[in-house]
Amino acid sequence: MEKSDSPLSRLVGLRRQVRDVPAYPYVPSPARIKLDQNESAYDFPAELKQLAVERMLECPWQRYPDLHSTGLRQAIGRLEGWDPEGVVVTSGSNVMIKLLTELAGIGQTVLTTTPTFSVYPLEAGMLGAELVQVPVEADLSLPAGGLRQELRRRIPGLFVLIQPQAPTGYADCPEVVRSLVEEAAAHGWLTVIDEAYHHFSETSYLDLVREFPGVLSMRTFSKAWGLAGLRLGYALAHPELAEQLSKLVSAFAINVLTQSAVEVALEHPEYVRERVEENRRERERMLAALQGHPHWRARPSSTNFFLIQTDDDAAALRLLEEHDVVVRVQKALPVVGDCLRVSVGSPADNDAFLQAAAAAR
Ligand SMILES: *Cc1c(COP(=O)(O)O)cnc(C)c1O
Repeated sequence: MEKSDSPLSRLVGLRRQVRDVPAYPYVPSPARIKLDQNESAYDFPAELKQLAVERMLECPWQRYPDLHSTGLRQAIGRLEGWDPEGVVVTSGSNVMIKLLTELAGIGQTVLTTTPTFSVYPLEAGMLGAELVQVPVEADLSLPAGGLRQELRRRIPGLFVLIQPQAPTGYADCPEVVRSLVEEAAAHGWLTVIDEAYHHFSETSYLDLVREFPGVLSMRTFSKAWGLAGLRLGYALAHPELAEQLSKLVSAFAINVLTQSAVEVALEHPEYVRERVEENRRERERMLAALQGHPHWRARPSSTNFFLIQTDDDAAALRLLEEHDVVVRVQKALPVVGDCLRVSVGSPADNDAFLQAAAAAR
């Protein structure tokens, strides 16, 4: 909230809900080894970048892009084995989270866990939805009992499940996820299963999306595909639900450059597999190397990142900085406490991280 001498103090037209929400918390660091944003360690392969650029050059830039990104949605449909009428694209899934909150949250409820991906509470706050967060269990699994109770007694709105979970990297039992989806469906909630990291856990909840018309899967090109800079996220849903969600997408939402480049990626999906395999090997190597560390305790993970708790986060950050490594601070995470979130990088990046860890012994 701004002070009374703020230039905005008389601007009563600004909605209180927006003023009360903090800005998205991210401070860029000059460190060379970036393990702070769960990005891919590798750029888009150079030969594919070249193809993407050629495709971009073929597009008329003075024309508006395809209104509904038809070609792109068809290509995603082919990749996922999904009816393109049930595919909705936005410039990043962060935008999709806003649309889902508009679709089912405003004046109603957004139900999620705590901790959760920070964008859900931010959007719920700004859009004036009632935010209900149930703490995860001590082992970080979904609080099934608590969520079930809230699903029964709250005014239905948006129910958020993240699988595997963020920011913890915990992958729940499919039976638990199914039982919660069933409960949500029985009470009329719209359920989003945020599958931003599903490549790394080799899980998919599309069977639930097929079975329940009020459930959608949200996926992104930002993580395993290594295309965070292009900004593309998508939802897979029943065509009728997709039609309602699409009304909220602004016209001409995806520019011709992103449409061209992502189409090229979709024609060459092979590179993703190798990277996911390397990610798993590297993650397990890092976790094994940290075992028995006297001051840093790492949590297992099914994603391309993991959490560590240290005896002294400030000292750990300084040490990492000396090794030119930046990780993400997670202050006072509910259930978990203070911790650092570390993305799995290239083997060389991870070596630098592990050298810093060794120096902390
Ligand atoms: C990274 C991430 C996303 C993807 O965000 P984009 O806007 O597509 O880059 C969505 N959900 C979670 C939980 C994430 O961690």
